[in-house]
Amino acid sequence: MNKIIYVFIVIVAGVILWLLLEPTYPEHKRIFNNHSESDTLNPKEKNMEQKIIKTEEEWKKELTPEEYNILREKGTERPFTGKYWDHFEIGIYICAACGAELFASDTKFESSCGWPSYFQPIDSSRIIYKEDRSFGMIRTEVMCARCGGHLGHVFDDGPPPTGLRYCINSGSMKFISKKK
Ligand SMILES: [Zn+2]
Repeated sequence: MNKIIYVFIVIVAGVILWLLLEPTYPEHKRIFNNHSESDTLNPKEKNMEQKIIKTEEEWKKELTPEEYNILREKGTERPFTGKYWDHFEIGIYICAACGAELFASDTKFESSCGWPSYFQPIDSSRIIYKEDRSFGMIRTEVMCARCGGHLGHVFDDGPPPTGLRYCINSGSMKFISKKK
């Protein structure tokens, strides 16, 4: 008899607990949904991350043959031939295809490799990285996050503070001088 009362109490306690906790579940769900909704609908954020997608035909029309070869076909300019490998004016370097601000002159350093070299981008979100196994090497390809244009490669033999060397094709960028 005592056992039956005990089981009954446990069941009643279980039901009471369930009734107390149950309404909080939809509440959690609602908060979670609202949160993710506001994240995806934030127009400012959306605008900042907006990607530029164009057909190869469109890129071909907009870019010079050299820019097209580097940015869209992942070509590499010959060392010591690009317009920025020994260029040290104060300003910023933007993507030649979409205008995204990629590198600043104060992170550029003299490198003997023959391509413009930087120890870091203006913002890490401006760059996307991809493993590149072409030509029998394992390298890290560097691309413009906004338009997907090929810029160059990043190596870990750079100077402090990052120890990185962003080895970028001059032909993938345009320089904007800060001197007026
Ligand atoms: Zn770009």
